[in-house]
Amino acid sequence: MTQPDSLTLYRRLLGYVKPHWRQFAVAVLGYAIYAASSTALAEMMKRLIDGIRDPDAAFRLYLPLFVIVMFAARGLGTFLGTYFMSGVARNVVHALRCNVFNHMLHLPGSFFDAHSSGHLISRVTYHVEQVTGAASNAITVILREGLFVIGLILYLLWTNWMLTLLFLAVTPLIGGVVRYASKRFREISRRIQNSMGDVTHVASEALTGYKVVRTHGAEDYEKRRFAAASAYNRDQSMKEALTKAVSTPVIQLSVAISLAALVWLAMAPELMEDMTPGEFVAFITAASLMAKPIKSLTDVNSVIQKGLAASDELFRLLEEPAEIDAGYRDPQSVRGEVRFEGVRFAYGSDQPEVLKGIELTVAPGEMIAIVGRSGSGKSTLVNLLPRFYRPTQGRVTLDGVPLDAYRLSPLRRQIALVSQQVTLFNTTVADNIAYGVPGADREAVAAAARAAYADDFIRRLPNGYDTVIGDNGVMLSGGQRQRLAIARAIFKDAPLLVLDEATSALDTESERYIQQALETVCRGRTTFVIAHRLSTIERADRILVMEQGEIVESGTHGELIERDGAYAALHRLQFQEVTA
Ligand code: ADP
Ligand code: MG
Repeated sequence: MTQPDSLTLYRRLLGYVKPHWRQFAVAVLGYAIYAASSTALAEMMKRLIDGIRDPDAAFRLYLPLFVIVMFAARGLGTFLGTYFMSGVARNVVHALRCNVFNHMLHLPGSFFDAHSSGHLISRVTYHVEQVTGAASNAITVILREGLFVIGLILYLLWTNWMLTLLFLAVTPLIGGVVRYASKRFREISRRIQNSMGDVTHVASEALTGYKVVRTHGAEDYEKRRFAAASAYNRDQSMKEALTKAVSTPVIQLSVAISLAALVWLAMAPELMEDMTPGEFVAFITAASLMAKPIKSLTDVNSVIQKGLAASDELFRLLEEPAEIDAGYRDPQSVRGEVRFEGVRFAYGSDQPEVLKGIELTVAPGEMIAIVGRSGSGKSTLVNLLPRFYRPTQGRVTLDGVPLDAYRLSPLRRQIALVSQQVTLFNTTVADNIAYGVPGADREAVAAAARAAYADDFIRRLPNGYDTVIGDNGVMLSGGQRQRLAIARAIFKDAPLLVLDEATSALDTESERYIQQALETVCRGRTTFVIAHRLSTIERADRILVMEQGEIVESGTHGELIERDGAYAALHRLQFQEVTA
């Protein structure tokens, strides 16, 4: 993995600062005031020492006033700098976080297959916070202390340029230490951030799957797994602490040595001659004032490197190609004629083919049932319709137009999908049915629920349609969750309806009811039904039998029974199960 240089990263981050340049300018002004007033401290020392030998009345009044004005200015500078810089930083983080989240909503299915949700979640929580560090604390310190150091150096040059140049001879050494430390900080930060992803990942898996963990007595296993992820995080953090703990004193020591050399040189009789005692003290004061900002600057280096490592990660994610959405067609409504033309598909170039040359034409309004062993490619086939994945060969057309020619969102508007894994949101029943349609008509929602045989149980919920159903619908039974998902699909009222084992969690009786209801709902729509229980699909216009990525049989229930092939065999098997 190549590491982009800090400059490129900072330039990209600065792009986020741009819209807030006014706040930024105020903050810089504040820090300039701070730096100037702090530098004035050295000048004050000079006046104090030079003036103390014969103080006149003006001097007595002037010096205390100077102290007050200076500290007032410093306070104002600190306020302007701190407050406005936080504003800039928070805005940057907000924008970056939203960009990352928004981008994730448009990444293709293959991206989610390859990344754990724990790692993705830690991107918008942990990583983004790391960038805040770089954007706020670090820029604050760099501006405030950096300007202070510059102020001090200018003052030193003005007082005695020759001594100053000697003093500055130590800077290459400091630079070397900082550079080495930075590299190390960056590498370690990357590891820490990844390990935060692991921590989130393990925790969320073990917590959402708590029932499996407990029934398998896997608590100890999960504890160990979590402890390992957390320990790795701790070890890397300690390495970071070590680098920080070593680099800061080394830098301070170099500054101190150069300061000592300075004092020694400054006291050389030849040099002492042209300086007043005030000038001398001011010079040493200014030089020693340098120690604190330099320490802050080196301390903040770790924060900066953390931020850079995190922003690198985030920018990489932003560069992940989004789903291809190059189509231009934006149909209001389609008739629903679907064709698969020589469709082949594999989940990855290194993975086996899951669909092996599918040829299929579905007339508008036809009800197609797909049966076959699990793993035969049924879900994969229907997942091509909303273009969650694209065929590796061949093409799929809708109303005679290749799917690629449609814009994604209008294409997906044509399809109502109830998939194997029901997804419900932690909101009210009504909002779940009318998902994505704020302020939907209550009567329409209830009608959809009635069609899905969900109305009865919804009315029995504590708050009816306004009941909040918990994380992924924990308050509901499997069958109830499926009925809500079906109601959602019915509510969407799309010309294409895809039911992927949508009734598998229902008892035979409810399934029969829903089957009847669906027959009304399916009228006038092209419907794909994948069903496990064959009894529910007998009335389909056509039944397809899939085996290892191929359609091996196709026909009506009667035809297929008569043919006495794969379907008939499956049917016999289930019939025996029922009567046994
Ligand atoms: P079905 O729905 O008929 O049970 P699927 O279409 O879900 O079968 O799966 C077909 C094959 O594709 C299986 O062998 C499965 O392992 C594989 N598969 C399914 N989803 C993915 C995925 N996201 N990444 C890689 N392989 C997958
Ligand atoms: Mg499936």
